[in-house]
Amino acid sequence: MAVPKRKTSSTRKNKRRTHVKLAVPGMTKCPECGELKRSHRVCKSCGTYKGESVVEA
Ligand SMILES: [Zn+2]
Repeated sequence: MAVPKRKTSSTRKNKRRTHVKLAVPGMTKCPECGELKRSHRVCKSCGTYKGESVVEA
């Protein structure tokens, strides 16, 4: 059986997997209203980020 001579480095492995990603982007619950929102994004339904109101609703 053929055996790879070298260990696949994490860089090479990650390069091979550049097209492997989640179909649905990371979603979290909003701490203010409990609505599902994208992480590191302002909540769409209540307009808050990090517990602060940033968008007037
Ligand atoms: Zn919210």
